[in-house]
Amino acid sequence: MSNKYDCVIVGGGISGTVTAWQLFKQGLKVVMVDPRTAPVMRLAESLPASVEPMMHRLGLLELLQQEPHSMHSGQVSSWGESVLRKAPLSDGHHGWKVDKSVLTTQIQAQLPEQCLFRGKVVEVSEHKEGWFCRVKSALDGSEHTLESRFVVDASGRQGYLPRVLNLPRHTFDKLTAFVANVPNKLSPQDLLPSVVVEAFEHGWTLISRLNADENMLAIFCNQHTPGFSQLKHSRHWHNLALNTSCFYNALPEQPFTVKAINASSHIMGRLSGKNWLLAGDAAMAFDPLSSHGMTTAIYMAEKASQAIQAALTGETTALQQYSKSMTEIYNSYLNELFGYYRREQRFPDSEFWRSKQGIQEPAVCSVVG
Ligand SMILES: Cc1cc2nc3c(=O)[nH]c(=O)nc-3n(C[C@H](O)[C@H](O)[C@H](O)COP(=O)(O)OP(=O)(O)OC[C@H]3O[C@@H](n4cnc5c(N)ncnc54)[C@H](O)[C@@H]3O)c2cc1C
Repeated sequence: MSNKYDCVIVGGGISGTVTAWQLFKQGLKVVMVDPRTAPVMRLAESLPASVEPMMHRLGLLELLQQEPHSMHSGQVSSWGESVLRKAPLSDGHHGWKVDKSVLTTQIQAQLPEQCLFRGKVVEVSEHKEGWFCRVKSALDGSEHTLESRFVVDASGRQGYLPRVLNLPRHTFDKLTAFVANVPNKLSPQDLLPSVVVEAFEHGWTLISRLNADENMLAIFCNQHTPGFSQLKHSRHWHNLALNTSCFYNALPEQPFTVKAINASSHIMGRLSGKNWLLAGDAAMAFDPLSSHGMTTAIYMAEKASQAIQAALTGETTALQQYSKSMTEIYNSYLNELFGYYRREQRFPDSEFWRSKQGIQEPAVCSVVG
């Protein structure tokens, strides 16, 4: 097998996988590198109905229409008032519940084996014509060097290439998600919609149905939330959730495993360069309140693959155009998000809500490259 590629993709989450799939369909020689086999915690992501034309365009709608993914009838939230109502951000139509790990595996199954490398990118260096990427196999620890004309970083929130290139990061807030996958103890009468958001004095909670038997529960808060660091232990959740209704009822009596995940909003100071670009959470990360993360990651993958194809044939402005349009998307998102946080005015003394509502002016973010 030759180790020379048109494109190496760092990371095989949804953004890396869709980028690899698109580049492969365009006839490029691509390899996607990721060590992961199964997710540590399932996040029960929801997608809006508006994702359907894009999924159709990408040839992925049929996958979405298969189990375990399902249509859901919307989301309710208690936000700015104590009653649960149809969420203002929801467009009134149905949405989709996806099992992200199954969806990525389904897409990866359509790629030839030689496009996937189970391992980690451990070093990259630029040369005149492109990149050398040193990868370490997750199967036997062996190391290989892949030569590539282009590199896509789709390595998630931490971002691999941004650290190598020492790119600045614009972070707009601090938000941590304490997440658990637990048995569903709510009856259908308790919980009709499959997504429930509830604001409380020191943050907000989310119940998102994984399947008939399990829920994903999450508490979103920050360092201003009393007892913040204790929330990694499930025994502290009941106390904090006393002022929620559905969420409190969904908490199991038995201890359960909790994972703390960074859920802050950020965009990197550059999204592309001469022969590289960032996609998905590695480029820009969204507050899960918006349900934008996965949809935008797929959209970025579509646009990234077009920009790469153009860049490799000498169209120099394609990558700049990619960066520009992604930055515009991010600016609209920030304005929408800050407006949404400002709608919750019940807790004027709460440090959490004050920190969320501190940004009064529409944020304008300009990202070069
Ligand atoms: C609690 C929570 C709830 C959410 N809910 C929603 C929702 O309802 N709807 C929605 O649209 N979005 C939601 N999101 C956001 C969504 O999950 C993400 O935006 C999306 O999964 C990002 O995908 P990605 O492919 O960019 O990154 P990731 O899924 O993080 O994938 C990155 C991959 O890169 C790999 N990697 C990292 N470093 C290397 C390396 N050096 N070499 C090789 N591989 C590497 C990792 O193993 C990983 O597989 C939620 C997020 C959270 C935290």
